[in-house]
Amino acid sequence: MKFAHLRLSGFKSFVEPTELLIKDGLTGIVGPNGCGKSNLVEALTWVMGETSARNLRGGAMDDVIFAGTTSRPPRNAAEVTLGLDNRERKAPASYNDSADLDITRRIRRDTGSDYRINGKVVRARDVQLLFADLATGAHSTAIVSQGRVGALINAKPKERRHLLEEAAGISGLHSRRHEAELR
Ligand code: ATP
Ligand code: MG
Repeated sequence: MKFAHLRLSGFKSFVEPTELLIKDGLTGIVGPNGCGKSNLVEALTWVMGETSARNLRGGAMDDVIFAGTTSRPPRNAAEVTLGLDNRERKAPASYNDSADLDITRRIRRDTGSDYRINGKVVRARDVQLLFADLATGAHSTAIVSQGRVGALINAKPKERRHLLEEAAGISGLHSRRHEAELR
């Protein structure tokens, strides 16, 4: 399953609506310090259901909303949409009637986040499970942030197993079992 595009609005430094087309062959994003490269990657993990503000270099989740500059007022909401190319029907069965999947997360100051898949309101859990089943997501091994390689080397066996399960695409099953046991 391929990422097709990423749309941002009011997210961190991307105050104006911005669309990044993720075409075959895209291998890197370059730019001067502070231009927003890391913010783009964080937008990707955020829309996939990241729940830790610290992992997004913030103190609270609404820190992802454009905070304003000397010349621009702050925003009250941020929205990110990740478009997935599902033409090969690799998505879990419940989403497979659609060739394109648009996953949207929106946050407003003080009211928190809501999520949609192709315009239909879903739970954060549904988005997190979708990406866990696709063996990707906010905590997957596909996204390696600074310092992570060193942390992996020093990880305990249990933490390392967690990463292997994520890579194997079975962590969605584990969290469903955990949910079932709680019921
Ligand atoms: P480097 O090459 O140093 O890693 P980078 O391209 O990864 O830089 P980012 O860290 O993505 O840059 O962007 C940092 C910029 O984003 C800073 O200028 C910071 O002020 C801005 N920024 C972060 N959060 C917000 C926010 N909530 N509102 C407005 N601007 C923000
Ligand atoms: Mg950076």
